[in-house]
Amino acid sequence: MSTPWHILGAGSLGTLWATRLARAGLPVRLIVRDVTRLHSYNAADGLTLVENGQANTYAVPGETPDNPEPIRRLLVACKAYDAENAVARLAPRLTPDAEIILLQNGLGSQDAVAARVPHARCISASSTEGAFRDGDWRVVFAGHGFTWLGDAAHPVAPIWLDDLEAAKIPHEWSTDILTRLWRKLALNCAINPLTVLHNCRNGGLQAHHCEVATLCAELAELLQRCGQPAAAENLQQEVERVIQATAANYSSMYQDVANQRRTEISYLLGHACKVAARHQLNLPHLNQLQQRLIAHLRSLGLPSD
Ligand code: NAP
Repeated sequence: MSTPWHILGAGSLGTLWATRLARAGLPVRLIVRDVTRLHSYNAADGLTLVENGQANTYAVPGETPDNPEPIRRLLVACKAYDAENAVARLAPRLTPDAEIILLQNGLGSQDAVAARVPHARCISASSTEGAFRDGDWRVVFAGHGFTWLGDAAHPVAPIWLDDLEAAKIPHEWSTDILTRLWRKLALNCAINPLTVLHNCRNGGLQAHHCEVATLCAELAELLQRCGQPAAAENLQQEVERVIQATAANYSSMYQDVANQRRTEISYLLGHACKVAARHQLNLPHLNQLQQRLIAHLRSLGLPSD
């Protein structure tokens, strides 16, 4: 029998992956937070994926982190701020050849996880797929996209990419995953915080062209300094293209704030400012943006980390 996929986190992306793997007949286990969540999950028929208006439910077996079964392949689908502690709880269950796939947005959480489980191979992912929860254990596949996977330490592709093929999860093995993650982080830093502060859709930033351009210049400087020149190339043009192409959308950070959810600021803008400080790089507008965003989140009673 093929290696089971353990999915940690039954949120939007975790469910999107779990249901497609299960649909392809692959063995999948869902790890939920605790016994209370397991009881809630068991009371449902399984995980439901809504795609093109059609809902299908998959009876993926659920378990808590305390289950004794060893884990060889773990997909971490929590938010960036939960990943390190959630994986640390599973450390005793990881086999010596365990592989961990990290779906978290931004940077910082991947290194934190890797430091907690140094014997495991950690693979980072950058995804443009979109999904949201419209109920407990039920997820809507909102935007088809693509997922790049890579391991900055070992460029050899893992065997289980065949499972993703079978599950029809569009993907590609990337030998420059760090560049991809930095580029996405920079795009996020140039767009998302401003949509929160100006209380607008992405397209609303067309009225703040100069502010966006200044941020892009500082972000490009940061990318150059931290050894990611390819991620800095034509950054401003791409930011402007994204603002135009997604003009009607609300950014993920905007949606988090609007729904009074914790944001992933520490792994996005916060990470950029931290790395700049480490390189003794003075980026006044980026720092000011971080301070304004933190003050705004606090004024709303939301966590600022
Ligand atoms: P989400 O819907 O909030 O799901 C996170 C899940 O993690 C929740 O179900 C939560 O459990 C679970 N969790 C947290 N701590 C846990 C623990 N200790 N043990 C077990 N489960 C735990 O988040 P998401 O939208 O899927 O995002 C996940 C990551 O993917 C983020 O970094 C996000 O930025 C990135 N991403 C998301 C999308 C998207 O379209 N959603 C697209 C690209 C990238 P509870 O249900 O009990 O709260």
